[in-house]
Amino acid sequence: MSVVVIEKESRAGEGISSRNSGVIHAGMYYPNKSLKTQFCISGNALLYKYAELKNINHRKIGKYIIATEEHELGKLKNIYDRGIKNGVSLKLCSKDKIQSIYPDLKVEGAVHSPETGIIDVPELITALEGDIQHNQGVVSLNTSFISAKKSENNFEIICNDGNNFSINAKILVNSSGLHSDIISKKIQPLDQKYNSPIYYAKGHYFKYSGPHPFHSLVYPLASEFSSGLHVGFDMGGQIRFGPDVTWVNVIDFSFDESLKDYFINSIHNYWPDMDPDKLQPDYVGIRPKLQNSNEKMKDFSILGAQDHGVDGLINLQGIESPGVTSCLAIGQYVAELV
Ligand SMILES: Cc1cc2nc3c(=O)[nH]c(=O)nc-3n(C[C@H](O)[C@H](O)[C@H](O)COP(=O)(O)OP(=O)(O)OC[C@H]3O[C@@H](n4cnc5c(N)ncnc54)[C@H](O)[C@@H]3O)c2cc1C
Repeated sequence: MSVVVIEKESRAGEGISSRNSGVIHAGMYYPNKSLKTQFCISGNALLYKYAELKNINHRKIGKYIIATEEHELGKLKNIYDRGIKNGVSLKLCSKDKIQSIYPDLKVEGAVHSPETGIIDVPELITALEGDIQHNQGVVSLNTSFISAKKSENNFEIICNDGNNFSINAKILVNSSGLHSDIISKKIQPLDQKYNSPIYYAKGHYFKYSGPHPFHSLVYPLASEFSSGLHVGFDMGGQIRFGPDVTWVNVIDFSFDESLKDYFINSIHNYWPDMDPDKLQPDYVGIRPKLQNSNEKMKDFSILGAQDHGVDGLINLQGIESPGVTSCLAIGQYVAELV
């Protein structure tokens, strides 16, 4: 079987994949039976192995989830318990312990996740592209999917690379991220009750240019007043804070600089010495959410013929975090469906 990846942009990964935190998550945040937990845990191990094999820049730097107030310790314990139930390796840290590790932070307790790390996502995408091509696949850039219609055993897929042309394929996988609902509308005969609307949750990142105390990822708990803006690293060691959660109606990567005060207040909750003058706008990403702002977290949606009845169609929606961590596990699952 040969594979063609149709990508409308001039480079692969220009959508959600190039605008995220680049964290290899460990799997403690999601419910035990969810696809998010299943793929995050197996994807974590697969991704470290793949990164070693392909020489992709990555570092298992670990993560501390911190409580900054005593009343948050119960919430911290809940995350620990859920993680342990999910089979994730975690350690509870007392106030003394975490204060000895991070004396400059305001902390009451922490959970340490040694299996969390960071990866260079552009390098990961290049390696995956290389693998597709070495296995006789094609990555067709600057090529838009227009529509698909199933007849007999094949999909006739109309594409546009400046001109319209068609491809015949037995299998069609829709993994178009923020556009998955728009694309799903153009696949016949998919019953639209199996197409979920995508809601957009924008996340801003501010980079920090001064000296800092961080040597691991640090995630404060979300509270009534803050979404828990965390400390992340790029592969060069520069730190950044974010992402926040701003619900938007259109896909638009502009940066709202007026969020700076909100970032300063949230970061000062756990790092009182942070110098606001050294905090600068960095970039934004947009999460493809299956739930609206007032709804509970929904799982990844990966539907095959057994769900929607269209043989050969695999439809992926809501592939938000931990989508990078899960990518190889999702790939294996889709291959099994195929
Ligand atoms: C702010 C933020 C932070 C995140 N942090 C993390 C993290 O730390 N760790 C983690 O594991 N995950 C993280 N994620 C999640 C992760 O980034 C995503 O789950 C993952 O990148 C999704 O990949 P994708 O291939 O589904 O989507 P995309 O990367 O968007 O790929 C879909 C592709 O489809 C193309 N496309 C769309 N329409 C068409 C069309 N009509 N024709 C042809 N091509 C089309 C797009 O151009 C795009 O390149 C984060 C996400 C966000 C937004």
